[in-house]
Amino acid sequence: MSGVHRRNFLTAATAGSLAVPLAGSRSAEAGDESFSNNVPDPLLAGKELPTFKFELEKSEGKVIGGSYGKEATVEQLPISKGIAGVSMRLEPGAMRELHWHATAAEWAFIVEGRVRTTVIDPDGAAETNDFNPGDVWYFPRGHGHMLECLGDRPCHFILIFDNGYFSEFGTFSISDWIGHVPRPLLAKNFGLPESAFEGFPTEEVYFARGKLPPAEPARPLQGWKPPALTHKYELLKRPPNGVFKGGREWRVDSTTFPISRTITGVVFDLEPGGLRELHWHPTADEWQYVIEGELSVTLFGSHGRYRAERLSKGDVGYIPQGYGHSLENVGTKPCRVLIGLNAGVYAKIDLSEWIAGNPLDVLATNFGKPASLFERFPRRDVFIAPNDDAAPARPVGSPDR
Ligand code: MN
Ligand code: MN
Repeated sequence: MSGVHRRNFLTAATAGSLAVPLAGSRSAEAGDESFSNNVPDPLLAGKELPTFKFELEKSEGKVIGGSYGKEATVEQLPISKGIAGVSMRLEPGAMRELHWHATAAEWAFIVEGRVRTTVIDPDGAAETNDFNPGDVWYFPRGHGHMLECLGDRPCHFILIFDNGYFSEFGTFSISDWIGHVPRPLLAKNFGLPESAFEGFPTEEVYFARGKLPPAEPARPLQGWKPPALTHKYELLKRPPNGVFKGGREWRVDSTTFPISRTITGVVFDLEPGGLRELHWHPTADEWQYVIEGELSVTLFGSHGRYRAERLSKGDVGYIPQGYGHSLENVGTKPCRVLIGLNAGVYAKIDLSEWIAGNPLDVLATNFGKPASLFERFPRRDVFIAPNDDAAPARPVGSPDR
């Protein structure tokens, strides 16, 4: 069977399994996104909700020279089973070496500085891109890539992986691999004398350090061979998806950035007192990173379980799929939060729009209140509510209430 035919055969087989799941073997692989809800998760089955906050920037991480990587996986934040994240800083001349991730796709947002990446795909197509603050990249699972700081100032970016069990320090690095293959095998592989591999690193380099990269990317050894889909998206260069009195939202998913099939990214700018209203995501977990400001995040987990956490700059929050939540700027300055959802198509249901989707008599019966009260409720989605001079929301049962 030729390569092309084999690929077509596999595609057809995959399509078939999507349409007709095998009896008794329904799995997430078969395209049933709700499957994971059927697996009881002991961590979320207790009387209380576990913490959903981790102080990422206060953690130690891996430091080499002036570069670091700090991670939040299930190890640091046990609730975050669906998504892991990394904060990475590279000093000028530093490169996160050529590597791939066996078990996760990588999505990134540039906070500061400039970054150059190269990425290879299974067709041998390679793309080199330069990124500025507010830009995003997406590398599908297993595609080999490198990241390097551009220019003479450091860069800082946030990486989001669609697997909470994925560790940035368990990646497949090129130096680690080549350093463990016997020289005769390397010589045969590349058609070179064994001496060509003398002095190669024998352990993982992780952060390589060298000269500043050229201002313009140099031609790859194979020449330019760009992929069909780009890995780069200039998120904050575009107008926001929504502008409200209480804040703004930018969003990118596969509908505008087709290669990003497993991750949606969102940036919220919330004014002081601004509230991303009570809502949930039917198809995705949510991973949060505070770029600037002070946030109160609330979580509702059924069975009367409710929890609030205060997130400051550099902290991470996590909301399991389907759990109710809200984000409120409780500081005195504007707040910016980066959000990653592990779905390629964004979906949410806001509490205000749910209520607006019901008639007065249903609402009156549900709450045992007169229908006239619900006349005063919003007729459409609030999404981001402004500060209204009222006292900040307190949890039910708070002694201050
Ligand atoms: Mn990577
Ligand atoms: Mn959300």
